[in-house]
Order: sequence, then C-alpha cells, then structure tokens
Amino acid sequence: MKKFSLKPNIVYEKESIEYLHKINIKNSLIITDKFMVESGITKKVTDILDEEKAKYEIFSEVKPNPSSDLVVDGVEAMLKLKPDSIIAIGGGSAIDTAKGIILFYMNMMNKSSKEHAVKPYFIAIPTTSGTGSEVTSYSVITDNDTHVKMAFSEDIMLPDLAIVDPDFTKSVPPSVTADTGMDVFTHALEALVSNESSDFTDTLANGVLKIVFSYLLRAYRDGNDTIARQKMHNASCMAGIAFTNSALGINHSMGHAFGARFKVSHGRAVAIFLPYVIEYNSLDSICAYKYSDLAKSIGLPATTIEQGIFSLIESIKVLNRKLGIPVCIKEMDIDKKEFLDEIENMSKTAMEDVCTLGNRKKPTKDDIATIFKKAYEG
Ligand code: NAD
Repeated sequence: MKKFSLKPNIVYEKESIEYLHKINIKNSLIITDKFMVESGITKKVTDILDEEKAKYEIFSEVKPNPSSDLVVDGVEAMLKLKPDSIIAIGGGSAIDTAKGIILFYMNMMNKSSKEHAVKPYFIAIPTTSGTGSEVTSYSVITDNDTHVKMAFSEDIMLPDLAIVDPDFTKSVPPSVTADTGMDVFTHALEALVSNESSDFTDTLANGVLKIVFSYLLRAYRDGNDTIARQKMHNASCMAGIAFTNSALGINHSMGHAFGARFKVSHGRAVAIFLPYVIEYNSLDSICAYKYSDLAKSIGLPATTIEQGIFSLIESIKVLNRKLGIPVCIKEMDIDKKEFLDEIENMSKTAMEDVCTLGNRKKPTKDDIATIFKKAYEG
C-alpha cells in the first residue's frame, strides 16, 4: 500500500498573499531573516496583520543553513509569546527554522502539560523558488557541535497553509535564482527515480522538470519576467509535493555533506553532483529507463536508453553552465587535497543521511566516495 498526502492548503499566483485576510490570526510569531525585514518584504505581511488588528512579533535571526542554536533561540521566543500562529517568511532556511521551532516547542509543551498541546497554525510564505519546504514535512538543521546538516521529517512540521505568491520572489538575485532553481530540478529528478516513486509523484516530477527546462533560464536572465517567476514558484511547490510523497536520494545526501563542510549554498551543492549521480543511478535499469524517458519527453536525442541518459547529463551540464554553476568541484575555489582528505568523512555522513534510504540503487560508502572523486575532476 502506498500513501499520497495533500496536507497544506495552497494558495498561489500573484496577490495570493491577500488570503491572509481570511485567516483569523490574533497573535503571531513571524520567523524570518534580517534581509526580509530591511528590504520591506516582511511588511507585505505585517501590513495585512495591522489591518486585521492582529498582534505579532518578529524573530529575524534566521541565517542560511540554519543551526540548532537558532532553533533553541526561536523556542525561547515562542515560550514568551505563546502565539496562536507562526508565519515563516523566507527561503528554505526560514521555513525549516520555523519547523524545528514548532517540533521542539510542541515536545516541550506536551511534556509539561497534562493536556495535549494545540499546535499553532503554521503558515509558510516561500520567498525563493527552491526548497518546496512550504509543503514538506522535512527540515534541514545544522548541528552546532558537529557541523553536520541533519535532514529530518515529522508530520507535525507540515505547514497548514502555503502562500505561493511569486511577487515575493521578484527581488531574488540571479545567483540565488540559479541555485534554488536547480534545487527544484534535483527534487523532481530524485523523486522520479526514488524507490518510493508512484504514478502520482512521477506525473508531478516529470511536469516540474519540463517547467524548469523551459523557465529557469528565463527567470535567471530577467528577474522581472513575471511568467517565468510564477512558473518556477509553482514548480518549486509541486516538486515539494512530489518528493515529500516519494523520497530524495544520494544527490541530496552528498549535497548536504559537501555543502555543510565547504559552505556551499544548498542548491549549488546539489546541482553540481547531478551528472555524476545520474551516471551512477543509471546502473539500475528502472532509473536508466526513467532518465531516458524524461530526455525523450523534453525533445532530447533518446533513440536508445544509453543515448537518452547521455543527452540528459549533457543538457544538465549545459544548463548549469548557462546559470553560472560550475560543472565540477575543480572549478570552484576548493583545494584538491583538502577536498580529497574530506571524502571519507563526507561519504560516511552521506551514507547516514535520511535521504540515502530513498535511493533506488543502494550505494556503499565506497560508491559514494567514487562519485565525490568523479565530481571533483568532472
Ligand atoms: P535560503 O533560505 O538559505 O536563502 C538564501 C539567501 O537568499 C538568503 O541570504 C536570503 O536572505 C536570500 N533571499 C531569500 N529570499 C529572497 C528574496 N525574495 N529576495 C532576495 N533575497 C532573498 O535559501 P533556500 O535555498 O531557499 O533554502 C536553503 C535551505 O533549505 C538549506 O538549509 C537547505 O538544506 C534547506 N532545504 C530544505 C528542504 C525541505 O524540504 N525542508 C528541501 C531542500 C533544502
């Protein structure tokens, strides 16, 4: 038996932020970062709360790749305010921080009270088209002591409402558009070939991949291209639905280990491994067929399965290049010896990552190490 859940209500497209008027918010904790406050993005939300005479406080301490210490600070803010709702405004980092805060807050409340604590109504407003965190039960938090990025999944962390309004992404700079857009691509591709994939998730994943091939470069080249921004924002959300109902795989596990160790943005850290992970996964016949079928459906040469896989890999390298993303780690400012010395640790961390469980082809630690080496030289 398989399960496909559609939990958060999703309002989407231009001006969907107006839906906030319909939610009866009395006392909210807004979780975001300093840039969102200083650039006025948060104001789009607080203006509505002011009109509705709702109280709120802003916790704006979020940083990229959020840490466990940040979650602890957020829980303190929750305990002081005891809000009826939480509004996360930002990229995956803000939404994941809010999820971590909710999880720990609810655990504390349930332990300290005889009655079952009521979860604050959780609204996620993504400002990047990337993680799909607004519709997933996943959060990725970096352990302050070990510096390891931990992905974990709990139903309680699923938002109740996702507001997918492309106006919130207009100010995303080109390099962040590129990195986060390739994160969307990687979510859809990993969901497609994961051992948990289904007809439901395949249809979403294939649809998302077509949108990314058609619109990511447009959004990157012109951030004011409202059609491209809207398409990418919808794609990001749909990729989230696909992977939270399917799974991810070693591309994400390796990206988490590499990104945390070498301080590379999440999207870029996963984009760089795509060609090498596709090559490895293609040793499995189902993955090979699905990659080739995708290549055919987007009009790439795919007379044979091998040709389809080759076309897909080359088209991803071309897309990465056009987006200013290196196609191998050698092209980044990372010392070869330092990288090679870290492969053992990163491979161990990647093997332990929850995403590895979703990979259809079961890797050994040596397999992962070999992929890391290939990704360095290209
Ligand atoms: P992010 O949230 O870290 O943001 C990246 C940068 O972009 C930040 O400096 C932020 O201030 C800026 N930014 C965000 N929105 C902007 C806007 N509208 N205009 C201008 N600048 C803007 O980046 P992200 O890629 O969205 O999230 C990455 C995090 O999410 C990582 O920690 C990653 O591991 C995690 N992640 C989570 C999931 C999940 O399902 N929960 C999935 C994938 C990745």
